[in-house]
Amino acid sequence: MIPERVREDFPILQQRMHDKPLVYLDSAATSQKPRIVLEALTRYYEEYNANVHRGIYFLAEKATQAYEDARVRVARFINAPRPEEIVFTRGTTEAINLVAYTWGRANIRAGDEILLTEMEHHSNIVPWQLLAAEQGARLRYLPFDGAGRLALEELDTLLTERTKLVALTHQSNVLGTITPVEEITRRAHAAGALVLVDGAQSVPHMPVDVQALGCDFLAFSAHKMCGPTGAGALWARYDLLDAMPPFHGGGEMIMLVQLDSSTYKDPPYKFEAGTPNIADCIVWATAIDYLEGFGLAAIREHERQLTRYALAQLREVRGVRVYGPEDVEQRGGAIAFDVQGAHPHDVAQVLDQEGIAVRAGHHCAQPLHRRLGLSASTRASLYLYNTPGDIDTLTRGLEVVRRLFTPRTAVRDR
Ligand code: PLP
Repeated sequence: MIPERVREDFPILQQRMHDKPLVYLDSAATSQKPRIVLEALTRYYEEYNANVHRGIYFLAEKATQAYEDARVRVARFINAPRPEEIVFTRGTTEAINLVAYTWGRANIRAGDEILLTEMEHHSNIVPWQLLAAEQGARLRYLPFDGAGRLALEELDTLLTERTKLVALTHQSNVLGTITPVEEITRRAHAAGALVLVDGAQSVPHMPVDVQALGCDFLAFSAHKMCGPTGAGALWARYDLLDAMPPFHGGGEMIMLVQLDSSTYKDPPYKFEAGTPNIADCIVWATAIDYLEGFGLAAIREHERQLTRYALAQLREVRGVRVYGPEDVEQRGGAIAFDVQGAHPHDVAQVLDQEGIAVRAGHHCAQPLHRRLGLSASTRASLYLYNTPGDIDTLTRGLEVVRRLFTPRTAVRDR
């Protein structure tokens, strides 16, 4: 059970917006941060800010220890077999680019295929487009059906001996769909392909165990799970990391530099050139402790109940159409919808005046929206600090939208 007083842990949620209590429904874009995370950030800068892996004085050793402890913490959170399998990055986007740039350039050849899905975020499309263009490879896409589920019946046709990688989201940031990663991984491996999972929307919201998923790469971001912006990770099997060439070149990733060549450190350091994002990686561990204080299963259950309530309430608002699976066992709390007769930007603007923060646009998923026949949608997305009261405020706000955007005669007729 997630108690309602969780909200009190988040200073930003205590404020009023346009003289109304703030209702934050945009956690799929970025989550809010609890006070203990903000305090941990200040403590780092006030008490032990120093560069890592290079100083032999007390502060540097303390910072290095905290940074490496954070790696252990992140590894344990996703049940990675070894902390060396965690490469700190700026976030999901950089983690996926790292794989495309290093593993991809070393392993993808002309004529090879990379299988994506039509519900991917741009950060799990564009890096593969860049790689495919460079190497002469081909991208293929697993579609989704009218209920927002991946069309698994097409997998056998799309997975061939040419498929070298399947890269898919674990939870859609628009439809909320939770994808069957275990099954897809099993079938991809049987076809000889590796699997990269975009965990940006799953790792913050449900227990994720890379060993149970069986995948080869997992990318995720701290800022979507109560941690700071600018930190994230790539998890990959150690043997893969070991065989991959470096990403960025610079200090800290080398063993020996000569004038015309260098040798590199072992993973993960080979992939962490330059001064890393020390503070934010350390503080990410505090965010993980905070989430684990409730338990990811409890957070998932809270969101499942809230999503069920939200879907039922939204169904009651005339003119509102919700996308994605209806069954809350198959989806999370990213809820995209449209309001008949009102552009999503107008919907978001009216809701903002009611103190409600939602996102409007294509949510970095243009192919998905094209598939739905839309150029944009409005999205409300939930996290542990949201309550049924927030959903009630949203539906009241949508009634205001409806009154403003439905012609008077039409309102009278209804
Ligand atoms: N993948 C998905 C499914 C996302 O929702 C997002 C962010 O919204 C990303 C990738 C990119 O994450 P980041 O911007 O933290 O790199």
